[in-house]
Amino acid sequence: MQKPLSRSLRFFASIFTFTSLLSAHLSLGEEDMSKPVITVEKKKDAKGNESLYMYIDGVKVHETDTTKQPLPPVVTPGDKPAAPPSDAVVLFDGTTKSFSKNWTDTQGGVSKWNVVDGAMESVRGAGYVQSKAKFGSCQLHIEWASPAKVQGNGQGRGNSGVFLMGTYEVQVLDSYDNQTYADGQAGALYGRSKPLVNASRKAGEWQSYDIIFHRPLFDKDGKVTRRATFTILHNGVLIQDHIGLSGGTGWRGPNAASEYKAHADKLPISMQDHGNPVRFRNIWVRELKDK
Ligand code: MG
Repeated sequence: MQKPLSRSLRFFASIFTFTSLLSAHLSLGEEDMSKPVITVEKKKDAKGNESLYMYIDGVKVHETDTTKQPLPPVVTPGDKPAAPPSDAVVLFDGTTKSFSKNWTDTQGGVSKWNVVDGAMESVRGAGYVQSKAKFGSCQLHIEWASPAKVQGNGQGRGNSGVFLMGTYEVQVLDSYDNQTYADGQAGALYGRSKPLVNASRKAGEWQSYDIIFHRPLFDKDGKVTRRATFTILHNGVLIQDHIGLSGGTGWRGPNAASEYKAHADKLPISMQDHGNPVRFRNIWVRELKDK
């Protein structure tokens, strides 16, 4: 039989547990998980196969109809990229030494990407390149240039990508006078959030991304409790304003429905081999604490 004292102790213990759980929940942020509004619809494709189609705030992912998904307005950026600050981890300084010290292929082996004129260059068939160091939440500066010789259209022109945690793609594409679906153009969180404006420079010119990324958090069952967030400047112009990422960015066809999948707290940064010789330079990172 329980004594009154132990009952009252249990009562206070339960209150304590409840308030601890409440404060733990609030410490993850008071994010409204109901926005943006995500809906998924089961539809048959042209071949009669059933697919899940995802809609974000009522707009189908990869919508090509510009009356339904208007293209971001074009903005001409200023002309100065950023040098690394004193507390940055420099991942690429333009030298072969820096490249081999800091980057591998996705198996951890020697990457077949080229180092040309102070830049690392994607090589068709060489696969993604990834950093040896692993990062979670971070500030990332990276510069890139699509091939000066314009070839291809839409997603086939100067396509690469910067993948935070090797998972969440900030699209790299020659989006100067090159229309594609808005959530797949330069600076898009691929298939999840179009850029606010199109701040692209011409093909062959150096461009910069400054990315402030907070990693997603997961509970012990692998369910996301805080979405990843992105704030991005493209050539110094704000293009993603503290966006909560709506699931994974991997290509799943036009349907594109994909959920978060739980992963480690830190993972490499990677860049995509999409068959186009896109170049990268001046890559540096500052780790950020999780709020
Ligand atoms: Mg890409």
